[in-house]
Amino acid sequence: MKKTTRLQWKVLRYLFTYVIGILFLLWFFQVILLQPFYEFNKINVVKEVADKIEKYIDSNQLEEYVSSLSDQNDLCVRIISENDISTRNAGCRISQLPVDKLLEYANLAIRNNGSYLSKSDLVEMQFVPDTLNTVTAKFNGDKNVIYTKVVNLESDSPTIIMVNTRISRVNAATQALSYQLLFIGIIVTLSAAILAFFMAKKIVKPIAEINEASQNLSKGDYKHMTSQKDYLEVQELNQTLTEAARQVQKADKAKRDLIANVSHDLRTPLTMITGYGEMMMDLPNEKTDENIKVIVNESKRLSIIVNDLLDLSKLAENKITLNLEKFDITACCREVIKTYDQHLKQERIVIEFDTTEDVNIVGDKHRISQVLHNLINNAINYSDENKRIIIHQRIEGEKVKILVQDFGCGIAESDLPLIWDRYYKVDKEHIRSDQGSGIGLAIVREILDLHHYTYGVESKINEGSIFYFETTVEKGE
Ligand code: ADP
Repeated sequence: MKKTTRLQWKVLRYLFTYVIGILFLLWFFQVILLQPFYEFNKINVVKEVADKIEKYIDSNQLEEYVSSLSDQNDLCVRIISENDISTRNAGCRISQLPVDKLLEYANLAIRNNGSYLSKSDLVEMQFVPDTLNTVTAKFNGDKNVIYTKVVNLESDSPTIIMVNTRISRVNAATQALSYQLLFIGIIVTLSAAILAFFMAKKIVKPIAEINEASQNLSKGDYKHMTSQKDYLEVQELNQTLTEAARQVQKADKAKRDLIANVSHDLRTPLTMITGYGEMMMDLPNEKTDENIKVIVNESKRLSIIVNDLLDLSKLAENKITLNLEKFDITACCREVIKTYDQHLKQERIVIEFDTTEDVNIVGDKHRISQVLHNLINNAINYSDENKRIIIHQRIEGEKVKILVQDFGCGIAESDLPLIWDRYYKVDKEHIRSDQGSGIGLAIVREILDLHHYTYGVESKINEGSIFYFETTVEKGE
């Protein structure tokens, strides 16, 4: 499992690693590789000088040229041909070399394609003061480099070019650099640590604020997440969480509304049942068929509400599986309309069915009847005194459209997208009819979504509404 670290420490760690890495590179190149780089460079200079002299070997100004080269590069040169030219600079060794040694270098060069590089430890002879004739050899780590080049080999008188220089130890320089690096390292590390600390704090602060606000969400405190707007990422996170908080708040309100509405809807029939029941118990002559019917009707209404609630929760959790079959939707409409016969007699309701032929569709017949019931109930509830409702069945090509039309109060355009939400009421004062459970359209939506049918509503205030759904006609028997 990955270890979790506080962001602040992570930023610090990365910055430290970076600084240490840079310091290590500096140390490696400046301290460890300084001597080899220096030596390499010096030897190159020696070779270059010998090559330049070779090109000038027949010139009249050879002597001046050689002395200027040896001064510029702080080295000494000896050219042995018919006449011997030699320049002397401090620590020069070739001018003192015995003839047999010169010949040895020349021979080595001839055998080695014309050039030979000798590198040896530099030993300096010193007279010890007071003890005359006593000589000590002092070795201080410097190197003596002699580069011998033999030119004009084919001619009778070949020329030997010798370039000599000293490669000093760079110990003192590397030591100074090491101290410098140590010093720079301490300063850089400390300043980086301080910088990282403040940077991390600045980055972490808004995240910590959002974190705190999110923790408060669970306690029901839906305030804005953070006031920090410096970083785009933080702004986006802020927006996401604010939206989440808004949704949670909405869900919380919906839950409270649901409880309030359910309690209200359940209380009304319950009050009626207990009221009528007690009345019939106390007053024997109230035990009439009419009163018993009220109790029975209210109990039915209660069971409708409870069933609808159970249905909706099952539908919303996708716990209902549709019992799909091919059935006659026209006959189904007729059956549903027939169940309103009692109603039609009692109230002034007219339900017309406008159809031309019977068609089959595929769906869950029981659930589609439920949709029709809910739409007709609403049409009745939201119609005025003269309740005229028309159910149209329209066949358009492959499709059949069922429309439930009323001429009631209608719905404002702004409310149309909201009426499908649970317990959304356009008119908050509206008293639900005996038929409604307050979640009728939410159930309609869930069922039609499950069937993948298209559906919708068209409505105009004071002119009425048309709720519809549409699906494909199933041909054949
Ligand atoms: P209920 O009717 O019990 O309040 P519904 O979910 O069935 O719950 O309907 C939601 C809301 O949509 C209703 O409160 C009402 O404002 C509006 N509505 C539904 N059907 C109609 C209709 N046929 N005419 C006018 N308004 C309607």
